[in-house]
Amino acid sequence: MKKFRLRYAPSPTGFLHIGNTRTALMNYLFAKHYNGDFILRIEDTDLERNVEGAIESQFDNMEWLGINPDESFKNPKDEECKYMQSEKFDIYKDYAHTLIEQGKAYKCYCSPEELEQEREEQIARGIIAPQYSRKCYLNKVEDNAKPYNIRFLVPENKIYKIIDIVRGHVEFNSKEIGDFVILKSNGIATYNFAVVIDDFDMKITHVVRGEEHISNTPRQCMIYEAFGWEEPTFCHLTLIVDETKKKLSKRSGNAMFFISQYRDQGYLPEAIFNYISLLGWSPNSEQEIFSKEEFVKMFDETRFSKSPSTFDMIKMKWINSQWIKKMNDKDYIDFIINFIDKNRFDISNKESSWIESVLILFKKELEFGIQINDHLDIFFNKDIDDKSKEVLNDFGNLNEMAKYLKVEIENIKDFSEINIKELIKKVGVEFNKKGRELFMPVRIYTTLSEHGPELAKTISLIGKEKVLANISSFQ
Ligand code: GLU
Repeated sequence: MKKFRLRYAPSPTGFLHIGNTRTALMNYLFAKHYNGDFILRIEDTDLERNVEGAIESQFDNMEWLGINPDESFKNPKDEECKYMQSEKFDIYKDYAHTLIEQGKAYKCYCSPEELEQEREEQIARGIIAPQYSRKCYLNKVEDNAKPYNIRFLVPENKIYKIIDIVRGHVEFNSKEIGDFVILKSNGIATYNFAVVIDDFDMKITHVVRGEEHISNTPRQCMIYEAFGWEEPTFCHLTLIVDETKKKLSKRSGNAMFFISQYRDQGYLPEAIFNYISLLGWSPNSEQEIFSKEEFVKMFDETRFSKSPSTFDMIKMKWINSQWIKKMNDKDYIDFIINFIDKNRFDISNKESSWIESVLILFKKELEFGIQINDHLDIFFNKDIDDKSKEVLNDFGNLNEMAKYLKVEIENIKDFSEINIKELIKKVGVEFNKKGRELFMPVRIYTTLSEHGPELAKTISLIGKEKVLANISSFQ
């Protein structure tokens, strides 16, 4: 069997986001499942639209996610291989001229103004999808003093069939397609032309990409046919939509769009890999948490979804929380410590064992990294908030309990979790209270907050001095 070779071919017009990550990831899984190659190619022919830093950022975020190319301009197969289209302008030009020689393409001297005029005339005649009239071809115009585009001569009334992995049989009639430009007057190839030459050159066996490219496919099929090259297998992935069923974009309400945003907020690469792999593809089980290796192993190209998939931010957060829980404590601490807002919480003079114990308290609660900052106030400079005060007032007059608590705490020598647990029990017996009636007032007096993790552990970590000061702040 031919070695499978798949590619992710971003245009460096933007940064890695949920949509293009899904394309990269499905190509990666498909290739790796069949022990094939995954190639990263940069489609940078549209020089004006290229965004500075986009290529580096795409590489960096892909590496972070573990979507590692076997070949790219950073690790080429050999010196001959070019992975950036801007390095291949001459090659495309030669191919375009070969098609002219074979009578399959022609030079078009029409200026943009003439083309626009043609278009307007066609629209005025009620034509919904205007096409180039082919006049330069029909009139055999030759004027080498003038700039020209090279247009592909679209075969007339021909049906092009593809078998798409997601959509099955798809047919296109060439009469829907006008003679399209393959090489612009500035000598630069258009996407539909360059993509075919590259996929052929790179021996790409499967083209997996977003469904917005389905309308380009017949044009590409025509070029394969013109050169007598075998087409790859196509696979057009269905859309990813937001909760309003619109295509996911940077304007989508609940969801963040760019991978760097997730990274900055403390999402784990494993979790993003995990969730995005489930967008438009599903495993043969109810399980939802899988590692990259598991995805590679179970990948099955017959399990792509035929309908759009909704990006669900709640699910993304849940999957991230599962991956945080799965980390060992050391990895978790190394990860989460970076997300502490050092302007709010000065940890520079704290003992590392103390910080670690505090951070561990929240391992099971966090959905993403920066949420750690919602929990740390009680260990630093927290003042009582109105809500907690109100809650405390609902329990009636607790002055005696506060006094008792203070004296007992003053008397504890070893301010350990076990001793504090004993103390809370003692308060319960003394004041004949249990459950919420006991724990809530003790929590608010000692931590100044109605919320928090395991009480005795928390009190012990806040430390005797601060706990006493907290109780005193009520008197
Ligand atoms: N450069 C195209 C894009 O960014 C990729 C098209 C393809 O995969 O054929 O959408």
